[in-house]
Formats: sequence, C-alpha cells, structure tokens
Amino acid sequence: MHVSERPHYGLFIGGSFVDALDGDVFPSVNPYTGEDWAFMARAASADVDAAVASARRAFELWSRTSGRRRAAHMHSLARVIEKNADRLARIETIDNGKLLADTSRHVRGLPAWLDYFGGLADKLHGTTIPLEEPGLVAYTKREPVGVVAAITPWNAPLAVLLWKLAPALAAGCTMVIKPSEHASASTLELGKLCVEAGLPDGVVNIVTGFGHECGEPLVRHPGIDKVSFTGSTAVGSAVMRTAATNITGVALELGGKSPNIVFDDADPQRASEAAAKAIFSSTGQSCQAGSRLFVQRRLYDDVVRRVAGHAEAMRLGNPLEPSTDMGPVAFRAHLQRIAALVAAAQDEGAALAAGGRAPSAPELGNGYFFEPTVLSEVRNDMTIAQEEVFGPVLAVLPFEDEADVIQQANDSPFGLAAGVWTRDVSRAHRVAANLRAGTVWVNTFRRIDPAMPFGGVKRSGIGRDSGVESLNEYLETKAVWIDTSA
Ligand code: NAD
Repeated sequence: MHVSERPHYGLFIGGSFVDALDGDVFPSVNPYTGEDWAFMARAASADVDAAVASARRAFELWSRTSGRRRAAHMHSLARVIEKNADRLARIETIDNGKLLADTSRHVRGLPAWLDYFGGLADKLHGTTIPLEEPGLVAYTKREPVGVVAAITPWNAPLAVLLWKLAPALAAGCTMVIKPSEHASASTLELGKLCVEAGLPDGVVNIVTGFGHECGEPLVRHPGIDKVSFTGSTAVGSAVMRTAATNITGVALELGGKSPNIVFDDADPQRASEAAAKAIFSSTGQSCQAGSRLFVQRRLYDDVVRRVAGHAEAMRLGNPLEPSTDMGPVAFRAHLQRIAALVAAAQDEGAALAAGGRAPSAPELGNGYFFEPTVLSEVRNDMTIAQEEVFGPVLAVLPFEDEADVIQQANDSPFGLAAGVWTRDVSRAHRVAANLRAGTVWVNTFRRIDPAMPFGGVKRSGIGRDSGVESLNEYLETKAVWIDTSA
C-alpha cells in the first residue's frame, strides 16, 4: 500500500475530526505484515485541553437530558454499530492482529452493552430516608460524576471501551477517550458512528497518542472528574498516583494471572480443550486468560499431554483468514518480552511440553508470531507463575488437594478471575468462596455479559465494569435535607 493510500485519522473533538494542534502524527503497525498501515494524530497537552473543554460543554446539556432521551441515543448508536460490525471488526483485526472471528464476536456483542445500560438510563433514582427528628424530609439523588477519562488497552479496544462508555452515557456523563497507541483505529471509527447515530457533539471525544504525552495530561487535567482505566498494573499504579493530584476518582481494570483449576473428578478431555482455549484465544492477550493451569496430581500427565496436543495442532497465520487458529501478538517489543519470559521459565526449571519459539515460516510473513506454548513442572513461586505474560504461554502446575490448590491459587499478586473444573457441586461452591478473585467460572471460562460485574481484587484493580453496580463508578450520591417545621 502506498503511503498516501494509508488512512489518516484525526482526533475526534466536539463531533469533528481534527489534526493535532502541532500537526504531528504517528504510525499504527499491522502485526501480521509488520508494516505501518495507518497514521493517527499525535495528541499532546493542548489537544487534551481542547477535548476536555468540549466534553465539559457537552456535559451541561447531556447531564440535563432526560434518561429516556439518553437511552434513545444509546439505542441508536447500538443499531449503527450493528450495521457497521463487519467493517469495525476487520479494522480492529488489521490494527491489533486478533483473529477476525474474535473481533467479530466482540463487535457483535457491543450493542448489548448499549441496550442494557440504555435500559437503565431512566431508572437511576435515589431514595427517601426516614429520619428520627420530626419535620425533616430527607432524600438522596443520583447525579452524574461529570467528565470521564476512559483510557483503554490494545487487546480489545472496542469491547473494553463499551464496558465504560455504556454505563457512563447512561449515567449522564460525557467522555474523553484515549485508546492505546498500538490500536486506536477501531475507536476512531466508533467516533464516526457517534456522528452517524446523532449523538450530540462533544458527548464522546477521542484523543490518540502516547501514554506520557496524551494519557498523563488527561489524567492530571482538572476538568476530569473520573478516570476509568484498563491496562497493565504498572501503568494503573502510575495513573492512580497522577489522579491523586486533583483527588480524581479512579476505576482500574488491570492485569491477571488467573488460575484455572482441574480437579481429578473432571472430564479431562473437556477440561483440557477448555484450558487450551482459555489461554490461546486472542493469542493469550487477554486479561482473563487462564494462564496458570492447576491440575490435580492424578490427571496431571494426561492433561499436560492433551493441552500440548491442542497447542501443537493450532494453525498460525493471517488473522483475517477463517482457517487461522491463532494470529500474531500485537507488536515487536511484546514478542521479545514473551520469548524472554519463556526462556527464563526454562532456566528456573520449567519443562517445555509444546511450542516455545517465535516461528518464521514463509506463510507467517513478517508477523510477530509466537508458538502456543505449554510449560510443565512449573512451581507457583517461579516468575512464569507470578508475572502476567499476556501471550500464548500456559504454565501447568500440579496440586494435591483442595486446600493445597486454594493456597497456591491465592498466592499471587493478582486476583482477576479463576476457573474451576469439577463435578462435585459442594466443592464448586466451597472453592468459589475461597478464591480471591473478582470472577469465578465453574465448568466454563471467559464468560462475559453486560449484566455481570467484571473486575479484580488485589493488583488486578479497583471497581467494576458491567453489571448494574458499574453505574456507581459514574454516579455521585447527593443527600438533600429539608426542614419542613418552619
Ligand atoms: P498499558 O498499561 O501499557 O496501556 C494502557 C493504556 O494506558 C494505553 O492507552 C496507554 O497509552 C496508556 N498509558 C500509558 N502510560 C500512561 C500514563 N502514564 N498515564 C496515562 N495513560 C497511560 O496496557 P496495554 O499493554 O495496552 O494492555 C495490556 C494490559 O491491559 C494487560 O496487563 C492486561 O491484563 C490489561 N487488561 C485488563 C483488562 C481488565 O478488564 N482487567 C482488560 C484488558 C486488558
């Protein structure tokens, strides 16, 4: 593709696409070809100021718009997304290298978030509170928190964004969105769809650029009332420190090292197939990935063999092709980090049961590929069991009994999600109760729904996306007292 044919995306501010004030751009790389495929405006502080000013102006109108009217706008946006789903999914796949089948599934799921939270937009009310003292009338009101900064990662840009956008718009907030510099295109395409759906100008604004040039000034901005961040634990911690400057509230959806636990009464075939999907879907670039597979001793060798078999059978290739089982990882530095973590695991004593290399077959072009990798003989204190890899690398650990696996599973800085495979219903409830994680899936994995809260404990974050309670991130409670005795 000739440079001039490559798409150029502007910043989306006040309902229009504009260049960065200093005219700077940066390239977005297609991880399958290794080539720049699009150019994005490179926002700095002054662009962030303009986007926040636009969102503040729009807040005056949107926060006073009735819930029913806000819902109508959200349902319209949902329908426009449905109409454009194929195009959005294709663009996201070109930008971040995820399988088209995955991005298509994500994009087709987005309207459900707008419809679910649109349905709640006219049902946000406080309560009246009976007080001891006669003559006092007291009630609470639920009011939008204000202008929300939504900062998102590259692995699922639109899905993660909608988990924030839908409850925020329902609550009456306006937004400034900063997608990842590695995959901004699908978010900017959503900006176009906001115009097509007739969303009032300035309710949604999008600034693109780098963390320190664009993300940091956004979080520090006094015009921002709430930061909803999804990304790594290290950056989440930096965001929290920056937000402290203005005592701005934060919701943080961070990394994970989720245990997936197979008890020896489980069906090994079903559990192994699900375990492979839990790690290798999205090339392992999922916060929910089941990256620590705990298998009870009696089934250990059998499950390692089966999961390794699944890994070896996977076809790597062009993520746009339906015959491909796994695409590349998102960018070169990430590939190098994954390779280094796998090498370090072997140095620490883990055994390679499958994969372990960055392959270079001709059909893989210049893509950033890493083989689906299974490491056995892993101990929970090894780096590979404690650090998030965010790639197609599974650590398989043995355990003796229920108490042992609960202790090992909880011995992690993270607490995002967990899986349990057992036919014993009492054990399922006991283990779910004892795991320190925001989500526990039993005999299933990686389920997500607008009605179910999602988020982590410990270093996996603060707050929840989705579920009715995610609205709390975007609402303040006002207490009103009226003395009627005079
Ligand atoms: P990242 O932390 O590197 O970047 C996330 C976003 O923060 C990007 O938009 C980036 O530009 C921005 N950023 C970077 N520095 C910043 C700063 N100083 N101030 C403000 N913004 C800044 O994460 P990533 O590599 O894009 O995504 C992968 C991570 O995201 C993984 O750890 C993964 O587990 C996590 N994740 C979590 C969830 C969840 O729901 N818990 C979902 C998806 C991804």
